[in-house]
Amino acid sequence: MEVAWNGPKVAPYEANAERARPIPIVYQTTSPKKKAPPAESEAHAPHAADHPHDTPAKTAHDSPAAPAVPAAAPDPHAVPAADPHAAPATAAAHDPHAAVDGLSPADSLAKLKTGNDRFVAGKPEHPDQSVARRSEVAKGQHPYAIILSCSDSRVPPELVFDAGLGDLFVVRVAGNTADESAIGSIEYAVEHLGATLIVVLGHERCGAVKAAVDSADATAPAPGHLPAVLEPIAPAVKQVKNFPGDTVDFAVRANVANTVEQLKTSDPVLSERLKSGKLQIVGGRYDLETGAVELK
Ligand SMILES: [Zn+2]
Repeated sequence: MEVAWNGPKVAPYEANAERARPIPIVYQTTSPKKKAPPAESEAHAPHAADHPHDTPAKTAHDSPAAPAVPAAAPDPHAVPAADPHAAPATAAAHDPHAAVDGLSPADSLAKLKTGNDRFVAGKPEHPDQSVARRSEVAKGQHPYAIILSCSDSRVPPELVFDAGLGDLFVVRVAGNTADESAIGSIEYAVEHLGATLIVVLGHERCGAVKAAVDSADATAPAPGHLPAVLEPIAPAVKQVKNFPGDTVDFAVRANVANTVEQLKTSDPVLSERLKSGKLQIVGGRYDLETGAVELK
């Protein structure tokens, strides 16, 4: 499966590039790298041929403020499939707290894509769901990927990626943002369970993102604890609010990009793992109709 990130729907960052108006990153940052916008403009470059009408405008109006290496560019620290540091998967089978390295980031990403292909095709294999697998992982877990996804009932990661017991370490919160406990949970899976890939998974028509869009101009705060869900999404809403078109979908994509960048610059655990090439962090958007996850 190869689903272009900038599919039929106009991606917000491409639109931004055409306006030569850099998007300020307004989420919390302690690193200068953070000022890089969630610029999909560069990431879209390989697909420019699919959108020839985009190319002239983008080239002509690319802002000099745009970073040479956008946040969503392929991770230069990603290691090849043959990870010399990879340890046998059984290294910590009997010690869930032992640090191990599992699949390489590239292999983990390929495994997710293959699983999603099966799901999209309606031919899931439901791997790793046997009684034997249950017994195996009872002794220790080595998930090959961490998924930070929305809580939406239509986007369960194990189904979407056709995975099973012990395969995915999943953190879910409405709007797929990362607070301290979410980052701490992810760090645990990276450091102690050997996961080498993090996917921030947003989705089409996200209710949390729509609520954040709707609340942007509200005069009263959202009731109860909802502000805790909506406030982390607010920067993405601000980034895309003037784009013509589907504001919610633009915000979904911007919110994923923001969270990816937040994790990439999270010191010290995640940022150092990235630098060492033992970790890759990517964004994804799930299509409610097709079941396809755009991963980049
Ligand atoms: Zn959602």
